[in-house]
Amino acid sequence: MDRVSQVCVKMHPSGRIYIIFLVEEPEPLGEPLEQPKNAVGVDLGIARLATISDGRFLEKPKPLERSLERIRMLQRTLSRKRFLSKNWLKTKRRLAEQHEHVGDFRRDLFFNLGFLLAQEYDVLVLEDLNVQDLIQKGEAGKRRLRLHDSAFSELRGCLKWEFVKQGKTVLAVSAYNTSRECFLCGGINQNLSLEDRIFNCPHCGFTLDRDLNASLVLLRRAGWVTPIVPVFELHPIPPPPCLRLVRGRQGEAVIREASAYRRG
Ligand SMILES: [Zn+2]
Repeated sequence: MDRVSQVCVKMHPSGRIYIIFLVEEPEPLGEPLEQPKNAVGVDLGIARLATISDGRFLEKPKPLERSLERIRMLQRTLSRKRFLSKNWLKTKRRLAEQHEHVGDFRRDLFFNLGFLLAQEYDVLVLEDLNVQDLIQKGEAGKRRLRLHDSAFSELRGCLKWEFVKQGKTVLAVSAYNTSRECFLCGGINQNLSLEDRIFNCPHCGFTLDRDLNASLVLLRRAGWVTPIVPVFELHPIPPPPCLRLVRGRQGEAVIREASAYRRG
């Protein structure tokens, strides 16, 4: 207890109480790799949360969708209650609980995905979402939509953290036109609309899932190219609880606490 420099007690609107102990010690980061052997590009989306350059993808999990639907329902209920009445307060609290549940679920999922990828790859390539890119023509609508979803920055943060923790590299490359560029020949498909799920290259005829192409473009922009054109097939990453992983830390097996999955 003498190493604790600060204690903070926090009560969330749902009534959940957190007691936070602040202990300062050097971060146990992994040694940086001298020769990274492989890299992975990750394209982030809304319905399909993440498309990975090896063909795997992470769909928005069903329990998460159900929780979000419940939130919308509770918001409607709340709007019909008299402000500050007993029922209003009760609904307000249930709403806060549901929001917290969604937050827990997302974080757990994102950290697990980051852990999974950081075990398999040395370099993570993500889109650099800077403001200049966002105001560029063409993809502006999609980007703005993405920017509003705060889950994005959280997902990026969780993936990054897991890589850095294992001594691996995170690269951010320009996000401009990633969906319209052909991974194979670098040509641009100007006619690709937001609704098109398949990318067709008008220059070389290459056809691929839109998001998978984008994740491969990211990889190429970071300087990683595959010598041959592999055959790409999309595979879903099994949704929770299968994604829950057994983590080994300093020789002992640690099973990730995943209480968030059980509720709801
Ligand atoms: Zn092409």
